[in-house]
Amino acid sequence: MTSLVLDKIVKRFGSIEAIHDVDLDIRSGEFVVFVGPSGCGKSTLLRMIAGLESISEGRLTIGGQLMNGRAAADRGIAMVFQSYALYPHMSVYKNMAFGLETIRMPKAEIEVRVRKAAAILRLTELLDRRPRELSGGQRQRVAIGRAIVREPRIFLFDEPLSNLDAELRVQTRVEIAKLHADLGATMIYVTHDQVEAMTLADRIVVLRAGRVEQFGRPLDIYNKPANRFVAGFIGSPKMNFLDVKSLGTRPNGVAVDLAGQELVTHVAADKVVPITVNAPLTLGVRPEHIVIGSGDGLQLGQVRAEHVEHLGSQTLIYGKLTDGQNMTIVCDGQKRTHVGDAVEASVAPSLCHLFDTDGRTLTL
Ligand code: ATP
Repeated sequence: MTSLVLDKIVKRFGSIEAIHDVDLDIRSGEFVVFVGPSGCGKSTLLRMIAGLESISEGRLTIGGQLMNGRAAADRGIAMVFQSYALYPHMSVYKNMAFGLETIRMPKAEIEVRVRKAAAILRLTELLDRRPRELSGGQRQRVAIGRAIVREPRIFLFDEPLSNLDAELRVQTRVEIAKLHADLGATMIYVTHDQVEAMTLADRIVVLRAGRVEQFGRPLDIYNKPANRFVAGFIGSPKMNFLDVKSLGTRPNGVAVDLAGQELVTHVAADKVVPITVNAPLTLGVRPEHIVIGSGDGLQLGQVRAEHVEHLGSQTLIYGKLTDGQNMTIVCDGQKRTHVGDAVEASVAPSLCHLFDTDGRTLTL
């Protein structure tokens, strides 16, 4: 059992509280990604789990055993950092074997483990090389190999791909996903990249300022963000946020006023936040959910393009509605739009999100 439970975990650095009352229940074999903006506490949380940082308050248990105060080496955890920190004068084999030699594991057992890890990571041909004779991606695989040979109960990754170029990042991301599938180990992975979070995670923890904003499966978070912060953080390009006023409820959902037009969303009204007529709200619409042309959806109005990016697979239009509010649209890659063009934007009522002035969603 390698489940991991954080129960009201607090971290203070002197008088600064960096982590506030974090509760998480991570299942055995799960791949969990901590994501959030710089300074939100991702690394601190990971380092507390690893035993590299003390826990100020709360309980950390692994497989039901209390870990507070236990030495890092006794936790059955291996950590892979963004800087691979390989020993430059040692071969790949030796780099992977070194940690096991220091705990006096028999040579034959070390060899079995290193060769097995090398096979998993496609490093067998490179075992005699020195780190300087490897590419960045190969070095990162050696660093992962060093973690694998220890046969840890839990793997921790701290932004392991951030030193790799874009193509290698995608490749190594796929390798880490395969590794998880092969080993079935519990893995916790820190990143500020929401694409890595969406693609790797069984469940994502979205953090902000030392607090958990949402913990859930990638598509659940994308489809039902708990608040405006999560809605804006997950999804690229970012969700559009438009200032609207509540017009109260209709049989299908909450109606809002956008620049003098009534839009009836399918956001259910009888939940969390009471709806007062004329209350300011934020309408959230993902750029990829906007349809160009006067279709059947809710008419958001005319968007004048101020900047256009043709990516081939899709076209991104950055523009403004007639009342001056910003709007980003993702549309068909063959759509030829130019700066200054005006397009009619609409959205399906079921794809609308609404947030109150505190950023709470009305949808959950
Ligand atoms: P990044 O993505 O930039 O690495 P992060 O989400 O990993 O950020 P942490 O490094 O965990 O964030 O830092 C969380 C907060 O704790 C920050 O406000 C940071 O300034 C503070 N912090 C971290 N380490 C210390 C320390 N040793 N002493 C004082 N404050 C610290």
